[in-house]
Amino acid sequence: MDARLEAIRDTVLARNPGEGEFHQAVTEVLESLGPVHDRHPEFLEGAVLERLCEPERQIIFRVPWVDDAGRFQINRGFRVEFNSALGPFKGGLRFHPSVNLGIVKFLGFEQIFKNALTGMPIGGGKGGSDFDPRGRSDAEIMRFCQSFMTELYRHIGEYTDVPAGDIGVGGREIGYLFGQYKRITNRYESGVLTGKGISWGGSLVRPEATGYGTVIFAEEMLKTRGLSFDGQRVVVSGSGNVAINAIAKAQSLGATVVACSDSSGYVVDEAGIDVALLRQIKEVERGRLKDYGIRRSAVDYVDGGSVWDLDATVALPCATQNELDGAAAARLVRNGLLAVGEGANMPSTREAVAVFQDAGVLFGPGKAANAGGVATSALEMQQNASRDSWSFAHTEERLTEIMVGIHDRCAATADEYGDPGNYVLGANIGGFVKVADAMLAQGLI
Ligand code: GLU
Repeated sequence: MDARLEAIRDTVLARNPGEGEFHQAVTEVLESLGPVHDRHPEFLEGAVLERLCEPERQIIFRVPWVDDAGRFQINRGFRVEFNSALGPFKGGLRFHPSVNLGIVKFLGFEQIFKNALTGMPIGGGKGGSDFDPRGRSDAEIMRFCQSFMTELYRHIGEYTDVPAGDIGVGGREIGYLFGQYKRITNRYESGVLTGKGISWGGSLVRPEATGYGTVIFAEEMLKTRGLSFDGQRVVVSGSGNVAINAIAKAQSLGATVVACSDSSGYVVDEAGIDVALLRQIKEVERGRLKDYGIRRSAVDYVDGGSVWDLDATVALPCATQNELDGAAAARLVRNGLLAVGEGANMPSTREAVAVFQDAGVLFGPGKAANAGGVATSALEMQQNASRDSWSFAHTEERLTEIMVGIHDRCAATADEYGDPGNYVLGANIGGFVKVADAMLAQGLI
């Protein structure tokens, strides 16, 4: 790493002790930015990096709620409003027991660059809670969401901060959150949240967008080598919203997705994952992947283990951060891997990324490859602002244009900085320069 940036990185690490994922995300971005600072000394003079690594505002709050047995429960809520140079803070809410300030900061930091790459007017933020939705009734989820919003409402707004979903937060949760926001504020402010239901201000394609977008990005990478998804053998991790829609899109392009996973194990379905059955189990019944193995013939369910033990030509990690380490990456490379599209945020460890890049595997980092979700959230905001509602076909066309645009911008930036095919460099520099220019133009804030 460039010595000037290393000093800044060291200060960030010392100032934010114990936040490993945040350290990792900052280090990975700063490692790409040396050449930019050679060309743009004004970024160093303007202390752009020091400002960028310090969130504009961090909110931590108590979320008290009552479970079905009448017991009082206390969780911790977070919203990190990281950077508003390009637009209102924008990013999802994650409800998962692993959520802490460091996780929310890593996600919020990544979101700044991701959102800049979309070309849409959105800043970066993230939030969530250590609440575990697993095994909770609808009524418990509702009471939790209402309590969460009873604090969060004062910090958000269509021109201020616009949350959405992430792990553990989907259409059901956004509905309860929106209802409580409306009730407290007495405003039908559609643009305050995205990922809403279609009949009350949501956008078609938003549920599909992250998974579809990841596959569209990976398809563009494959095209640079004269390849496509057609005929590829694909392994996906996860079986949530992002994974399911990535599987559907990859198979619509002619690939066979032979496996996906949840936190307990994975299924191997050589005929190709049956998306309708997977949706039924995961989205309708909110069940476990194990049931997929029971209900479909000729399917192996592997309890525990790693989906990355399988051989594949394309890997789409769509579960969570640091789920794919250096050893798994080396195994995938040995087994003939051609491309990786990150549907999750930072699913590959730094060692894994190095293995992929050294082996010449096409590697699409999350902040570029999974930007389709937040980009379609920005399309939802556009529709809300104009009180309009677009067709599926039109919205999907916009998503495709945006993803192809992100791919081309990352590729062109990597070329410009002398490292063709390095999408990590392209994404980090492409996103950073846009935000840095806006920060300098807006003065010392
Ligand atoms: N949580 C998603 C992400 O990681 C989407 C955020 C949004 O739509 O605001 O980008």
